[in-house]
Amino acid sequence: MNAPLPLKITQEAAAHAYDDVARVSNEVAGRLAARLAAETKGEVLFSGTDRGRYATDASIYQVMPVGVFVPRHATDVKTALDICRDLQVPIVPRGGGTSQCGQTVGAGLVIDYAKHVRNILAVDAEARTAEVEPGIVLDHLNAALKPHGLWYPVDVSTSAQATLGGMAGNNSCGSRSIAYGNMVHNVLGATAWRSDGSLLELGRYDAASGPARALGDYVKALSDQLRPEIEAHWPKVLRRVAGYNLDIFNNQNEKPYTPDGSVNLAHLLVGSEGTLALTKSLTLRLSELPRAKVLGVVNFPTFYQAMDSAQHIVKLGDGTLTAVELVDRTMIELSLQNPAFAPTVRTALIGQPDAILLVEFSGSSKAELTPKIKQLVELMGELGLPGSVVEMIDDAPQKNLWEVRKAGLNIMMSLKGDGKPVSFIEDCAVPLAHLADYTDALTQVFRKYGSKGTWYAHASVGTLHVRPILDMRREGASKMRAIAEEASALVRHYKGAYSGEHGDGLCRGEWVEWQFGPKINDAFAQIKNYLDPLNLLSPQRIVNPPKMDDTRLMRFAPSYKVIPIQTALDWSAWNVQNDPVTEQTGAPGTGGDAAQGFAKAVEMCNNNGHCRKFDAGTMCPSYRVTRDEKHLTRGRANTLRLALSGQLEGIKAEDAFTSDAVKDALDLCVGCKGCKRDCPTGVDMARMKVEFLHHYKAKHGYTLKDKLVAYLPDYAHWASRLALLLNLRDKIPGLAALSEKMMGFSAKRTLPQWKTQTFFNSGAAGASREEVLAAAKPVVLFVDTFNGYFEAGNASSALKVLQAAGYTVHIATKTVADGKSLCCGRTYLASGMVDKAKAKASELVAALLPFAEKGIAIVGLEPSCLLTMRDEMLVMGLGDAAQTISRQALLFEEFLAREATAGQLETLKARLKPVDQPILLHGHCHQKAFGAVSPIIDVLKLIPGAKPELIESSCCGMAGSFGYEASHYEVSMQMAELSLLPAVRQQPDAIVVADGTSCRHQIRDGAQREAVHVAVLLARQLQD
Ligand SMILES: Cc1cc2nc3c(=O)[nH]c(=O)nc-3n(C[C@H](O)[C@H](O)[C@H](O)COP(=O)(O)OP(=O)(O)OC[C@H]3O[C@@H](n4cnc5c(N)ncnc54)[C@H](O)[C@@H]3O)c2cc1C
Ligand code: SF4
Ligand code: SF4
Repeated sequence: MNAPLPLKITQEAAAHAYDDVARVSNEVAGRLAARLAAETKGEVLFSGTDRGRYATDASIYQVMPVGVFVPRHATDVKTALDICRDLQVPIVPRGGGTSQCGQTVGAGLVIDYAKHVRNILAVDAEARTAEVEPGIVLDHLNAALKPHGLWYPVDVSTSAQATLGGMAGNNSCGSRSIAYGNMVHNVLGATAWRSDGSLLELGRYDAASGPARALGDYVKALSDQLRPEIEAHWPKVLRRVAGYNLDIFNNQNEKPYTPDGSVNLAHLLVGSEGTLALTKSLTLRLSELPRAKVLGVVNFPTFYQAMDSAQHIVKLGDGTLTAVELVDRTMIELSLQNPAFAPTVRTALIGQPDAILLVEFSGSSKAELTPKIKQLVELMGELGLPGSVVEMIDDAPQKNLWEVRKAGLNIMMSLKGDGKPVSFIEDCAVPLAHLADYTDALTQVFRKYGSKGTWYAHASVGTLHVRPILDMRREGASKMRAIAEEASALVRHYKGAYSGEHGDGLCRGEWVEWQFGPKINDAFAQIKNYLDPLNLLSPQRIVNPPKMDDTRLMRFAPSYKVIPIQTALDWSAWNVQNDPVTEQTGAPGTGGDAAQGFAKAVEMCNNNGHCRKFDAGTMCPSYRVTRDEKHLTRGRANTLRLALSGQLEGIKAEDAFTSDAVKDALDLCVGCKGCKRDCPTGVDMARMKVEFLHHYKAKHGYTLKDKLVAYLPDYAHWASRLALLLNLRDKIPGLAALSEKMMGFSAKRTLPQWKTQTFFNSGAAGASREEVLAAAKPVVLFVDTFNGYFEAGNASSALKVLQAAGYTVHIATKTVADGKSLCCGRTYLASGMVDKAKAKASELVAALLPFAEKGIAIVGLEPSCLLTMRDEMLVMGLGDAAQTISRQALLFEEFLAREATAGQLETLKARLKPVDQPILLHGHCHQKAFGAVSPIIDVLKLIPGAKPELIESSCCGMAGSFGYEASHYEVSMQMAELSLLPAVRQQPDAIVVADGTSCRHQIRDGAQREAVHVAVLLARQLQD
């Protein structure tokens, strides 16, 4: 420790700074962390686990940073820069970390701008400009611009995660770049710190003075000197993002960087991947929001024809053509297999095309644009494809189809097994005239190496995304190099750009010299040296990069090993390998995972960062309120992966999985299953948390609170008899505080109130087992612990409604009566007691199997309980019986919606009196995860006059016992305040419907309103 560091910063020392820091990071790290903590207001994250979470991005690489710094203000960045300069620690700036080439992984100090440095500094609607801090996310900027009728039109697929700083760093490009250009075409100015601490103000060269002017003069001299090389070697395509934009003085781009041909020095930083300066602010050119769009979907019998036609289609524009995007046969097939996408895709198909192109025109009115679609139809006729265009004039079908297209990569990435679609040549750009031949030739290359590619994306600009499937733990690196070599030869042959959208990073850095030749490459080194002579900013990127296939830099290097564990749940579905050509996976359990499939399930997270979203959907409530990488699905998956592979620094490999570091990362996971639904690769952190807790608690023991929560179903029958006594906790002053101290339940919360009269002792009468088995309209009602003991009214309402609808209802009971009620095991799962949960689940299976085998629906009220039968119960080793039950297990509203569609609810409908209040609906997270929200709306609409309105909410924040816990109270309320509580408050006269017990409690605590289960509302509306 504390080895003396060279204090004098010399040019020579600077050249080695990167390697030195990687080698002696322990010594440097302590001093760095201490100074950052003392001299800034930012967050200083230097634990092995924190650093591990920032060691990866959406690429195949992994490099452990020295530390992570999360600045609170822009000034913190400057201070951190000064400290890093003093200590010779390199800096890796980072936004959302969604780069695909390893741009944000490096051995220096990672500075994460995205949490705090994200203000909109100014908007000039008239001049159509905005000035922003680099950490702002594109969608958030566009939401703020919408009221002005403006947007920032570089519409990357990652618009919900990508920061403007990161987009500028990568010179990002959107689907509509044919109309709007790339980042470089839409940046008007930048302020940025050089590594010497000076602030550059970059804008028009002809107006520049001082250091900016000097920089401009320097680069201009280089550019002038290299004119012949630039003209000979520079790709003449729109999509070229490699190297530095030395061509600002001698435009080579299909679309000049500025409309008036002027030179803008800010463009030097665009695409520089954090290697030249740290961006402080960006001035952006805004565009008018298109008022109307029309879409023509061209169906092609062969992929080649689709590629060949693109060059003709782009000529239709007159400035109104905004996109030509490809979806190939494989992607069409995959979408057709996905119930969420299939209906949408079908609307776009004529027969069985081999590929489709989405051709979009935008302008001021549909009337102005519809002739464009006619021209497209005529063109396709001329090209020998009459009747090949589906015309989409209305907005809704267009929007749905774009969602499928945007999900393209995600659809592809859900492949299980060690072979994954790898991003390394996926955005080469070739002139449109050669697109067909290029894609054809590259397909042959994939075949030669035993792989295949699925093609999609930006046909309009010759940038097609394609990822061959490679197994990086085995021979992937060598195959990657071989394919890259052949792909680059094709790119050269067709005069394209090797790096056309996703940047250079670690993956393509070594191809910069190949693309531009040694002289231009040398000029890049001179620009780097001019701006960052200390080599502090993202060293070894663009200039002097490492080899792309250096396995020491990889996340899944051949040395990657998983520590064996015996899992409590069955993860064998993930324990498979795949065939890279057919994409077929082997039998469950055959994948060779030492953690029985659990590690492979965790490794499904490819770090694409989709969970960093704030828009519709549930994922990820804890990130939405904390904005911490640690409390993000990605951060959790990375923590688990590092632990399972013994890479959590400072923790013994065998102790890592059950360490407090993992517990901390999972602590704020509310188990909402938002990720199970919203994560493109299906990372199910809620289930992973159950597995983790099982191991953690087995080692560290259960707390009193754990036991009180878990065993609730076991003691509820006698606790209800002591209701008066137990409810004193919320009546006698001081007892709540005592319960917080002794058990950890927040004193700020009331607890669910025990009732002496429960559903189970209410004498509610259902049909006998024999009667229901013989009935014409049978149904079994499963009453869970919560509705049975705490809110008996919900269960009796459900019974009443089902009977009113003419069903013979049997109330499920245990096969052997022991005074307790049936239980799905949910509370045990939440506490990590998987064995106890299995015992409960087997009792439930035994009780319900005879009905399920007869095809009788098993209806439940509490989403988290009922849906356990369709989820965790299937991975508890309960065999086919659990499968049989899962097929019949339906939420009350799912059952009614199904029956209504089948015309079985006419009697019930006739008996429902109208409602005249607005109805607000909050969906339980598990309902959302299982697509079970729309049935509630359907059922509510059975009530005459009902116009249910869905609250766009994430998790309510209560999440079982989570929100009751003192340690989680604040976060729980913040989650509720994100959208749920404000929406409820906004409509004081609305009936609020929420089917989750904990959701209703949260609404009562936070908005002082009584929400009701849908069964209660239906029962209330029943008339004789
Ligand atoms: C599923 C998926 C889809 C994608 N689709 C697209 C697409 O349609 N179009 C496209 O162009 N890209 C796409 N990408 C790549 C990536 O999302 C974009 O490049 C995005 O703009 C990166 O934004 P970010 O905030 O995540 O940046 P990061 O990855 O965090 O950083 C990007 C670069 O900018 C630098 N940087 C960040 N902040 C600063 C700063 N303040 N100062 C200096 N340098 C800084 C970083 O060091 C890095 O070199 C996609 C990626 C994925 C995973
Ligand atoms: S958890 Fe899912 S959404 Fe988040 S980064 Fe990983 S794969 Fe992407
Ligand atoms: S279960 Fe919910 S809280 Fe947990 S990681 Fe997934 S989305 Fe986030």
